[in-house]
Amino acid sequence: MKYRSTRGQAQGYTFEEAVMAGLSPDGGLFIPHSVPQLPTNWRKEWANKSFEELAVALLSLYIDQTEIPTKDLEDLVKRSYSTFRHEERTPLASVRDGLYVLELFHGPTFAFKDVALQFVGNLFEYFLERRNRAEPAGGKVHRLTVVGATSGDTGSAAIYGLRNKKNVSVFILHPRGRVSPIQEAQMTTVLDKNVHNLAVEGTFDDCQDIVKTLFGNKEFNERHHLGAVNSINWARILVQTVYYFQAYFGLLRSLKLVPGSPEAEAINIHFSVPTGNFGDVLAGYFAHRMGLPTHKLLVATNANDILYRFFETNAYEKQTGADGNVKETLSPAMDILLSSNFERLLWYLARETVQTDEQAGQTVASWMQALKTEGSFKVNNEVVLKARALFDAAMVTDEQTIDTIRTFYKPAAANQNSYVLDPHTAVGVAAAEKIIKRDNLALYPAGPEILICLATAHPAKFSGAVETALKSYSDFNFEKNVLPTEFIGLLDKPKSVVSVERADPALIIEVIEKELRQEGVSF
Ligand SMILES: *Cc1c(COP(=O)(O)O)cnc(C)c1O
Repeated sequence: MKYRSTRGQAQGYTFEEAVMAGLSPDGGLFIPHSVPQLPTNWRKEWANKSFEELAVALLSLYIDQTEIPTKDLEDLVKRSYSTFRHEERTPLASVRDGLYVLELFHGPTFAFKDVALQFVGNLFEYFLERRNRAEPAGGKVHRLTVVGATSGDTGSAAIYGLRNKKNVSVFILHPRGRVSPIQEAQMTTVLDKNVHNLAVEGTFDDCQDIVKTLFGNKEFNERHHLGAVNSINWARILVQTVYYFQAYFGLLRSLKLVPGSPEAEAINIHFSVPTGNFGDVLAGYFAHRMGLPTHKLLVATNANDILYRFFETNAYEKQTGADGNVKETLSPAMDILLSSNFERLLWYLARETVQTDEQAGQTVASWMQALKTEGSFKVNNEVVLKARALFDAAMVTDEQTIDTIRTFYKPAAANQNSYVLDPHTAVGVAAAEKIIKRDNLALYPAGPEILICLATAHPAKFSGAVETALKSYSDFNFEKNVLPTEFIGLLDKPKSVVSVERADPALIIEVIEKELRQEGVSF
């Protein structure tokens, strides 16, 4: 399988090239030349596979044997998910009749990004080691310096994905004093030599601007081989397809239905996905294109609702809060102005309205150009209708998020379990409830509809919203009901963090090079 850019110019990239580059040289995102179809007997043959076995089966459809031999792929997958606390890796929990939660938070940092980043870290290491073996001593060592900015949520997943990986150094910039104590501790208590936390005096936007400046600094970039682990990396999307399949099989097993049987085929499976950069739900789109029975994919957004507005108005338009910045909500990992992976879906939508792949690329490139110069673009009705055949969208306010956490903690009927939702997951669940109500869906077993809400974070990670929602219940005790043992004492553990006094790219460069020397890297 080879990869092309969503903007039409570049194609014929290998998987390794797509993963190591992240972004295509023409500014587009990598997509496979074609979406592989599932083997005809997949329902039967895959029904009892473990998460790791499913991952190998799916990934093999996108990565040539000549690029990663199956034995190596098996080893990469096995190591990546051995860090998960749950033996099923991403288990399905039943919360009500017809309503399930797919728990994606059993990885090292208690958030769904671990599913992708545990794998990506190993993949980087694998490719670098292989390049170094191919060009041994005498030549220079292939290495990667990953630089990223975080407002708190995603930095730790990157750090845990890359800690202790050979030939990789990781620098995560966070705004000093502006990330929650738990999130700060999750990042800074990782003491591996190749992990560098920079606490920058400034805002998250300052940190992000610095990272952009560094990537644009050709000389610095060439000297240190900058790498990114942001959500546009194709490998992240690819491994996220695995849990859609696992959820499908897990659901049928729990309902005691045989995959492919008329009873199983009669069920309509909807996935509700709390969405920010559109990576998680895009993986569901690929799963669907490959052949996974998916009735609807529900894009659940918070008040940063550019995607919801797209489905309502045909316009993709950047919109800030009153202060000109992204709106701050109770689901901060979804606070975005633009949704970076949406470009990939746009390519597939455009492709359905033109004759060739190149024309689809040109269409996407023109939309992205308009977005850049005018802050928006509009697509014609045909495109949105195509999208609506599979996707639906709903926007959830903070108030509804809190209400949903409360409702699901206190079951109102015998067929409901008490469940503590994190605020991101609550957005997905609230969106699902809106659609159930709007369309008057008949939920299983009374009707054919089943909704699976993707749970993207453990509630302990976003304790503020959870405590706000549940503190009025006398039987609720955060330490007892929610806090995992791994978080106990975390705040008091030894930390490794470098304080940076000014949000100044030149100063950051100085700090990075000093740290690299201390790590023993020569450049
Ligand atoms: C990143 C993140 C999301 C959004 O996922 P996308 O792939 O960016 O749409 C949702 N919830 C949590 C907890 C996250 O960390």
